[in-house]
Amino acid sequence: MKALSKLKSETGIWLTDVDTPTPGHNDLLIKIHKTAICGTDMHIYNWDEWSQKTIPVPMVVGHEYVGEVVGMGQEVAGFKVGDRVSGEGHITCGHCRNCRAGRRHLCRNTYGVGVDRPGAFAEFLVIPALNAFKIADNISDDLASIFDPLGNAVHTALSFDLVGEDVLITGAGPIGIMAAAVAKHIGARHVVITDINEYRLDLARKMGATRAVNVAKENLTEVMAELGMSEGFDVGLEMSGVPVAFRDMIAAMNHGGKIAMLGIPAGEMAIDWGQVIFKGLIIKGIYGREMFETWYKMASLIQSGLDLTPIITHQFSIDDFQKGFDTMGSGASGKVILNWN
Ligand code: NAD
Ligand code: ZN
Repeated sequence: MKALSKLKSETGIWLTDVDTPTPGHNDLLIKIHKTAICGTDMHIYNWDEWSQKTIPVPMVVGHEYVGEVVGMGQEVAGFKVGDRVSGEGHITCGHCRNCRAGRRHLCRNTYGVGVDRPGAFAEFLVIPALNAFKIADNISDDLASIFDPLGNAVHTALSFDLVGEDVLITGAGPIGIMAAAVAKHIGARHVVITDINEYRLDLARKMGATRAVNVAKENLTEVMAELGMSEGFDVGLEMSGVPVAFRDMIAAMNHGGKIAMLGIPAGEMAIDWGQVIFKGLIIKGIYGREMFETWYKMASLIQSGLDLTPIITHQFSIDDFQKGFDTMGSGASGKVILNWN
């Protein structure tokens, strides 16, 4: 079968021919319809320090996808051939304390699809049936293919009560923008999002942010004053991984504010801990998606009218994968989809 693989320890990704995987007793065999390019795939493409330490070469990459069940192992229940599915890319151990308590997103023995084991940028994918999520008929293939990053946005945004609250999101990448749309949809008052990339700030405006602030040109404090916010933000969603953005966020929070942190800093990150202490801030780290409450909520949010379609800005055929990676790398895009049909 056709697959996009990391074949060499250098920048790039290559379309190759690999063996079609065979499902084990508890696995599904999925024929891939659409995949989306994640920031992680860009790290692997660029062969940065993290990828060099993490990715065994050769490796089929990719973990954002939608497809159709075409086969399964003898022990699988609850799925049938023809079901449309996406899937959780974190494969958990099933025997640690958290897994056994139903907190699979906190499993300490997690493996990543397209990171530690063959991924979804391929004609066929095998995953444990426990990791698959059935897609309802009224959700499009396009949206289903981005459930993985949407899940990061939803997991983060639903970490704290946002109803009637003023929310600051730092980082208008695809995940930050989707989080802004979710926050508005569920009833936040002001949703202010920051970035230094005008293309993405524009997209955030289109998707419902109250204000999209270019922090290279505008001052967040002035924006807060314009909005009549005399005290500070109630909830912060850190989605940039950039230290200065996180420090700005801490400064802009009200006393008793709550911060959910998804963005991954490149290294250690210094902050003014005095502010955390004297403001009584609560900071929560977010990894992945809750299995499968986040997935249930994503589907429900879309079914209750959340419109995420503008976040998908580009679509390419898999044979044009290079254009897809170039587009994603340019910063002038939302989600970029690669079509396998
Ligand atoms: P992204 O890199 O596309 O978005 C980050 C954005 O931050 C970019 O648009 C960038 O221009 C912006 N930025 C740069 N400097 C800034 C500043 N000073 N202030 C505000 N914004 C600034 O990433 P994404 O795919 O949207 O993901 C968001 C973050 O979440 C990344 O750090 C990613 O690594 C991380 N992530 C974490 C998990 C997890 O499970 N914790 C999962 C997926 C992604
Ligand atoms: Zn576990």
